[in-house]
Amino acid sequence: MKLFLIILVLLSPVLYGKTPSKKVIVLGFDGLGGYWMRKNMDQMPFTKSLFKESVHTTKMRCILPTLSGPNWAGIIRGTRPIIHGVFNNKIQPIRKNTPKSIFEVLKNNYPNIKMKVIADWNGILDIIRDHNFLEKVDSKYEIKDDALNKTIEAINQGNHFIFTHFDNADHEGHAHGWGSREYLNSMRYVDYVIKTIYNHLKAKNMLNKVDIIITSDHGGSGKGHSGFVRGQVRDIPFLALGPSFKEGHEIKQILIRNFQVPHIIAEVFGVKTPESWSSQGEIKGIYR
Ligand SMILES: [Zn+2]
Repeated sequence: MKLFLIILVLLSPVLYGKTPSKKVIVLGFDGLGGYWMRKNMDQMPFTKSLFKESVHTTKMRCILPTLSGPNWAGIIRGTRPIIHGVFNNKIQPIRKNTPKSIFEVLKNNYPNIKMKVIADWNGILDIIRDHNFLEKVDSKYEIKDDALNKTIEAINQGNHFIFTHFDNADHEGHAHGWGSREYLNSMRYVDYVIKTIYNHLKAKNMLNKVDIIITSDHGGSGKGHSGFVRGQVRDIPFLALGPSFKEGHEIKQILIRNFQVPHIIAEVFGVKTPESWSSQGEIKGIYR
């Protein structure tokens, strides 16, 4: 009886739904364009090899305006700028009626969830500046492998949900141009980051326990990303792999947008999305 009670106590957070049984890692690569990936896939051989074990597309679309702030806010708050209120990179204080973030939604459903956000760009931390219930870490793209090492550390700490923002591709795009030699180098770096994290999970026997989602906020053209009508700017990658997702499934549906990403995360964790999120969030047929 005593043993039974001890087991019950140990299991209670799981039994009462306070701790999620799933784990998700989001790798967000600022400025990584889907058009540039299609054109230069040889720069990303590992990521290319993941297509056969993932749900994937290089034609997800970013939202207007094609700036970092509105797009990351969409990826975090499940809707468009007109609703989430971030129209540029000057992130205003959060208003009362701002739609809940994916982090708030998960925390409300799983009070014991462990979450960590790592960001090369402070704007990400500004979008969630009131979220004192999760760990927020500033990383620097200038420091070699800073965000990568912090992501590995977050995995080792047992976080259920990790969201990392990497700034390398966007930085090289602005400095040298999208498609430049330096930008292609940054694509190789993205590939290295994905490979390193994948291999770390593999070594820890966690590949069948963790879902990985890879996406971006916008591409670019020349040294900027304001020409929204062009695929060079508009197209971004989306890859999802792990126990929740189908393998080798290319998303053919037209018009899928990055504000749908948190809807997918909510689906994986088995939680309801808020009414204030876009009603166009669902993507059917991608789950196992
Ligand atoms: Zn950006």
